[in-house]
Amino acid sequence: MRIETRAIHAGRAPERGTRDVVPAIHQSTTFQKADDGSLPGGYLYGRPNNPNREALQEALASLEEGAEALAFSSGSAATLALMHSLVPGDHVIAPDDAYYGTAILLNTHLRDWGLKSTLVDMRDLRAVERAVTPATRLIWAETPSNPMLHVTDIRALAAIARKAGAFLAFDNTWATPLLQQPLKLGADVVMHSLTKYLSGHSDVLAGALVFREAGPLLVKASAMQREGGSVPSPFECWLTLRGLQTFPYRMRAHCENAQRLAEFLSKQAKIEAVHYPGFASHPGHKIAASQMSAFGGMISIQVKGGQAEAFKVCATVKIFTHATSLGGPHSLIEHRASVEGPTTKSPANLLRLSIGLEHADDLIEDLEQALEKL
Ligand SMILES: *Cc1c(COP(=O)(O)O)cnc(C)c1O
Repeated sequence: MRIETRAIHAGRAPERGTRDVVPAIHQSTTFQKADDGSLPGGYLYGRPNNPNREALQEALASLEEGAEALAFSSGSAATLALMHSLVPGDHVIAPDDAYYGTAILLNTHLRDWGLKSTLVDMRDLRAVERAVTPATRLIWAETPSNPMLHVTDIRALAAIARKAGAFLAFDNTWATPLLQQPLKLGADVVMHSLTKYLSGHSDVLAGALVFREAGPLLVKASAMQREGGSVPSPFECWLTLRGLQTFPYRMRAHCENAQRLAEFLSKQAKIEAVHYPGFASHPGHKIAASQMSAFGGMISIQVKGGQAEAFKVCATVKIFTHATSLGGPHSLIEHRASVEGPTTKSPANLLRLSIGLEHADDLIEDLEQALEKL
């Protein structure tokens, strides 16, 4: 079955008793046992399992074409559960432009817990190879990256991970399984912030891990989910499953709009640079084209001038909302450096745009009037 069909049907068999076509929300935290103590419904308690979470996990595994998925209370909780599947003393290699929250976890809490990590520029595969140590257990990567949209070669990283005897994990939040499927290119596990495109309406905080195989990594992460308990509520699972149904169509529209906006922005005198992997001139375009079916809904721009000019654009747009996050129907614009704080690598004149589902002409006109006021 194609992804559009799986997005609607996976994990969504009609309810057995009532035959609801749309699943019910199972708020109960506990489930009745049979007289012999067995569990006829298959559920015991809300932390280890819940029908809505199970349905969501089935759908996510199907979308990424993995063996199994685990849902968490946020993308960061999913990342943390995976890292906690390792043991103190293990070594992780991650990109030097990893999602800011992931880098913080590695550089503070996980480091204090005993996990070693090296952050490298993953466009440089030699640098990744050089960072491998006998203790390397996991290579964590993200492509396209945040906020510079650097592109990493998934197949080449898979070869390095195999040689190192390490697992390969990809944060696939920006690309989504419609555009890019790391598990098919050799990754062992994919992480999603479901908060973004997959739930798709900026009203859910959730995350997931999807595993290529039902192997030791899944067993450990599954124990972290069950015993650590960072699980999404039944309603968050229900909302995410609801959002998933339209995700392939939403995602295509995000990409089409982003391509049009990127082209418009690249012709503007007041813009110094447009970072979008859909451009043939983007340094990662060839690799992106070999592993992505389209180039995503995220664009970063550098405004001529500095932070003041960048903020002025945020203050004068009318349709774009000046807010963080991405992947919702509404377009967002954000000055990354001020969100990330003093250790940011984001240039002072950089704005990150999450291109939404409004008409592209309206978005273009909005940016046009904002740039005129600079
Ligand atoms: C938002 C995001 C995360 C973190 O997810 P939360 O759901 O906010 O915890 C991780 N990686 C990327 C690329 C993200 O955009």
